[in-house]
Amino acid sequence: MMPSHRIKQLLASLAVAGYLFITYLLIIHLQNPVLRAQKETLIFLSVISALYLIPVILFGITMGILSTMVLIFLIAVVLLIEAAVTGHLFYLIIPVICGAFVLMAFWGEKRKQSILLSYEVDMEKNVASKNEMELRLKERSEAVNSYFDRYSRFYNLRRVAEDFATTLTLGKLGDAIVERCLGFVRKGDHGLLYIFSEEGANLSLISSKALLEKEKPKSKQGDIFDMWVVKNRQHLVVPDISTDFRFNVGKESLEAVQGVMISPLLSQGRVIGVLRVNSKEKNTLNTDDLRLLDLISGLAASALANALLYQRTEQLAIRDSLTSLFVQRYFKQRLKEEHKRALLSHSTISLLMCDLDHFKTYNDRFGHGAGDLVLKGIADILFEKVGEDGIVSRYGGEEFSILLPNVPKAGAAELAEELRRAIESKEFLLRNEATHITASFGISTLPDDTLEQEELIRIADERLYAAKRQGRNRVCLNVS
Ligand code: GH3
Ligand code: MG
Ligand code: MG
Repeated sequence: MMPSHRIKQLLASLAVAGYLFITYLLIIHLQNPVLRAQKETLIFLSVISALYLIPVILFGITMGILSTMVLIFLIAVVLLIEAAVTGHLFYLIIPVICGAFVLMAFWGEKRKQSILLSYEVDMEKNVASKNEMELRLKERSEAVNSYFDRYSRFYNLRRVAEDFATTLTLGKLGDAIVERCLGFVRKGDHGLLYIFSEEGANLSLISSKALLEKEKPKSKQGDIFDMWVVKNRQHLVVPDISTDFRFNVGKESLEAVQGVMISPLLSQGRVIGVLRVNSKEKNTLNTDDLRLLDLISGLAASALANALLYQRTEQLAIRDSLTSLFVQRYFKQRLKEEHKRALLSHSTISLLMCDLDHFKTYNDRFGHGAGDLVLKGIADILFEKVGEDGIVSRYGGEEFSILLPNVPKAGAAELAEELRRAIESKEFLLRNEATHITASFGISTLPDDTLEQEELIRIADERLYAAKRQGRNRVCLNVS
């Protein structure tokens, strides 16, 4: 243990005092020739000289190596003078011992310093390696996290792919794409999916989702950003739409949306839709997010192409190729559904059966091709006039059926009359000759006439033939 500061001071003072006292004794001895000549004093002086070691040690303990060396130097000088004056070489022993002591102390100190230095170097090395290890550990844990993140994303992506591949209905697929897109990208507040129709050169919204339900975006036709993506067939990210010079957007849309990113859905080189993510905050979307969106849109594109194909095939199966009206099979399926619904909800269904009058004669006179044109023309009239109120089908040949859910008999009769007049007044130009055709109608209503589905068809058919019997070009509501 090192002595305290006060003890150090005391020891140093004692050492200096001792040094002065011994030096004083030596000076007296040197000044007195009698004493110098006496042999007995030699031992005494030697002892006194040896006492120099005590202040040297004390100084060594208290004042450090440098002060001790100075002191030893002074002692050595004094003793060398003594040796020179008295001629006693014995006095040289003390400086030699002192010198050895100094050398040892000096060497010890140097060793201590070098050990300390090496400790410090080791310590620095250890600190450096500790920092490096910490840094590596941090990097590793970040890498592990990012691998985990990537793994979970790609695991999700696999599930997304499976999900998409097994969904063929356009509506359901659209919802799945938007939902999965928001979950996968993990950014943005709204997700939207539009399909692009090359014929109409327009977009139509298939599905949209907002993290907050009330914020559901309303744009059904897409906007300037979506059209840019369709036109350029390129993905787009605009982190802050107010500062992007390429797009001049209205103030209203600025308030709702601050950033957008959109990826085109490409199938066989054609844009079939766009997948979009909106952000309500500026500068939250970046190119990394866009890359994730591209991954999803890549999967979505092929699924969407399949669903569109499926829808088209389904349409082909349920639509008649000549008139584009529904086929009888589809009509019967819809009748079944509507019949069930009407019974459960105690509502009405009316059914119109329509058959062209003397169509065989028309065919014979103008040819089968002309007859086809007439069928198409009549189908257009029916489709246009019935509109959203009913399901118009080609029941077979030149016979049509019109299913009218929630329409009572009076309403059905009114519509049938309107249709009859429209057909009657329609002119079909054939080889510059204006030709006309008429049609007869039979009507049945649920629950007025029957509660049975098959009966509904039979009764309407029966009334149609009643209308024929009664002279054609008329509507029959009841068989008298
Ligand atoms: P009615 O007033 O009694 O119904 O007389 P109609 O001549 O229309 O008699 P019917 O209903 O028995 O004749 C159906 C005719 O419709 C026979 C057939 O030549 C014609 N037809 C059926 N399908 C088609 C078609 O797809 N194209 C053309 N051009 N004619 C068709
Ligand atoms: Mg006919
Ligand atoms: Mg017929």
